[in-house]
Amino acid sequence: MRKQYVKRNRLIAGYWLRRWLLATFFVATFLVVPADTAEHKLQVVATIFPLYDFARTIAGDKADVSMLVPPGVEVHSFEPKPHDMSRINRADIFLFTGRMMEPWAADLLKGVTNNNLSVVDVGHGIHLIEESGNGEKNGQVGEAVPGTRFRTHQDGQDPHIWLDPVLAQKMIDTIASALASADSANRGYYVVNAENYKAKLRALDVSYTAGLSSCELRTIIYAGHFAFGYLAERYRLDHVSPYKGFSPDAEPSPREIAEVIRTVRRTGASVIYYEELLEPRLARIIAGETGAKLRMLNGAHNVSRDEMISSSYLSIMESNLAKLKEGLRCK
Ligand SMILES: [Zn+2]
Repeated sequence: MRKQYVKRNRLIAGYWLRRWLLATFFVATFLVVPADTAEHKLQVVATIFPLYDFARTIAGDKADVSMLVPPGVEVHSFEPKPHDMSRINRADIFLFTGRMMEPWAADLLKGVTNNNLSVVDVGHGIHLIEESGNGEKNGQVGEAVPGTRFRTHQDGQDPHIWLDPVLAQKMIDTIASALASADSANRGYYVVNAENYKAKLRALDVSYTAGLSSCELRTIIYAGHFAFGYLAERYRLDHVSPYKGFSPDAEPSPREIAEVIRTVRRTGASVIYYEELLEPRLARIIAGETGAKLRMLNGAHNVSRDEMISSSYLSIMESNLAKLKEGLRCK
């Protein structure tokens, strides 16, 4: 009788001990991992479309990536609003291309109070070329002769690094390492995504090299602000544009427009390229004078809301290559 009583007491004590251990375990778990940390996804804000597209590809489902400049807005004339600062204050990572592309970023960041924000200059480590314009050489307006590269050294450096598929790979590395540092638990995931994407960029580079190797013409006639300086340099192309510098608001002079028309006639070019998101008024004038066709060569600065889902940096670049091959009459 007594033996049974002790055994029963031991069983009850064991039961309560197990309950106590289990409860302690749960309490300890919540103390070590706060509830919101388990749920918290890395928040990434990227200024313009190429950075947004690169970041979302690397981040996959492990981070929330958003674009600061609204879809469809011309990025060169963008000015941040107070609510943009609040968005950055709530973010973990802020990605921008560099001071030439987003000159407003420095001032915007001065107002940011989030000490944990990682600010990433995605152009870091990339050598910027001096801004290329049309015909400004030694202070004189030079003639646009095929095979000659025109440069002006007075308006700064060219910010359009993403349009070179080789430099884009460097940008991928920078973004991937920022994500991995901020979220080391998913480092392997980011590294694999970045490597897969770089393989696609290498394939894009191979397509451009092969596609543009044997062309009747090598001069891109561009009736907008010329964003393809790095791409032209990579694939040994020349260009003429009536715009000096990178401000799409600048008005070219009649003399500069006449110069482009002369170049179209002399080279026998049959395609005039124009830029995305802007009315191709000037391109139409030049096309009207020369009988050339119009094609949009997309600098991928920004896209419409629909295109944020339907298109990507890669699809834009593939489409650009097809248009270049048509306009330059490549085999
Ligand atoms: Zn631009």
